[in-house]
Amino acid sequence: MARKLAAGNWKMNGNKAAISEATKLAEMFPVPKVDVLLCPPLTILAPMADALSDAKIAVGAQDCHAKPSGAHTGDVSAPMLVDAGAQYVILGHSERRTDHGETDQSVAEKTQAAFTAGLSPIVCIGETLEEREQGEALNVVGRQLAGSLPDASDLDKLVIAYEPVWAIGTGKIPTLEQIAEVHDFMRTTLLERFGDGAAAIPLLYGGSVKPGNAAEIFATSNVDGALVGGASLKADDFGGIISALEAA
Ligand code: PEP
Repeated sequence: MARKLAAGNWKMNGNKAAISEATKLAEMFPVPKVDVLLCPPLTILAPMADALSDAKIAVGAQDCHAKPSGAHTGDVSAPMLVDAGAQYVILGHSERRTDHGETDQSVAEKTQAAFTAGLSPIVCIGETLEEREQGEALNVVGRQLAGSLPDASDLDKLVIAYEPVWAIGTGKIPTLEQIAEVHDFMRTTLLERFGDGAAAIPLLYGGSVKPGNAAEIFATSNVDGALVGGASLKADDFGGIISALEAA
């Protein structure tokens, strides 16, 4: 059985004042029954980790460089994220694949860097609307899954997020049957590649998850949690999603 994880991706939103939402969440869930994670912008990662040091809520980053150090202006390495208090790092989010030209190969290198530093990578994959309409969703997910994970993956740390690009920030979500089809396919594919240990890899769904639709998504086959964007910014909204996962 995979552990359950509710992960919030704040993207490029939030400043120091917004850390109060994280501490509010910690007060709402002093002992959450599922793993809870917030990934704020890098500028407030360390202060948020400090603010949550006594809480049962982890903090993560939204990207890292593949190298541990060096002449890479503007980049941050996985060991630096650990030093700042991160336990997780989101990798290969579709916004980074689009905005920064990230490829499956570069995501695999970053994923290896995360394992080496002791971070849990949340590797994001998912098809565009055009690819879904062409009947290519499983092919795309299969290709991204194969290419974005190193062979020496640490299965105890690895997390996968299926995020159909067309569902991110749009209010549209796939049917529950479509989500189940992709998640069952991901589980089978991971078991074939990595063996029995892949049964425990958390498979998150991401894309317009809200308190109102979370319960039915969490009841779907092989969905072990969610990667949540917009609805993770406010403790009350994210709290509703965490409660739904606790009840699933
Ligand atoms: C995301 O950014 O990973 C995401 C799923 O965003 P949203 O929940 O806002 O659709």
